[in-house]
Amino acid sequence: MEFSCVPDCSQCCVDREYFPNKKFGKIGVLIMPEEKEIMEKLAKINKLNIKILPRIGTSEQKDTKLIKILAYQMMGIEKNGNTCPFLDTETGKKSPHGGFPCMIYDQRPLACRTYPLIEENPITLDQKCKFCEENKTADKNLNSEIESLIKIKSKMNTNAPFLWRYATGIGEKEDEFQIRNGWFLEENDLLKD
Ligand code: SF4
Ligand code: SF4
Repeated sequence: MEFSCVPDCSQCCVDREYFPNKKFGKIGVLIMPEEKEIMEKLAKINKLNIKILPRIGTSEQKDTKLIKILAYQMMGIEKNGNTCPFLDTETGKKSPHGGFPCMIYDQRPLACRTYPLIEENPITLDQKCKFCEENKTADKNLNSEIESLIKIKSKMNTNAPFLWRYATGIGEKEDEFQIRNGWFLEENDLLKD
């Protein structure tokens, strides 16, 4: 089965999930350190305000002051964390498959180029993607997604003894008492997420 976006869908640029659980708040689009400045420049060009928070960090010692950021995340523009700032929901323009278009499609982050692929061997797609709701999986037309996922994995590879995950403090109003903010120490294998 060949992967292709479902007509009119923009779900993966709108919906943001709690990950790995509510304590960590809603996550944003994964941004590699070298992509952060590019996103900030693109936001300026498009006259947008964006919010980029840390996502994963490492340290040689168990001290939050010594954390080196391995990946950031670009937060959604809604109060509950949803909707990427670069999703054009205003002008009425359409993406090739009929959804809201990405304003920076040719320069979009590696994470966006990877979705909905979450594992390349064997190919595993995010079951929250609308295509998967209808077709479960695909094995064709995923070459660029595979390439991007391999790049992300190699950039996130680390032997640092301490891994940290940043809680964004952002989510639904009814969850505010469960959502935390700031760095929390992780188990090593969480980096494989
Ligand atoms: S959720 Fe899936 S089908 Fe919908 S736009 Fe994203 S990748 Fe395409
Ligand atoms: S950068 Fe573009 S492709 Fe990525 S989430 Fe935002 S609107 Fe979607």
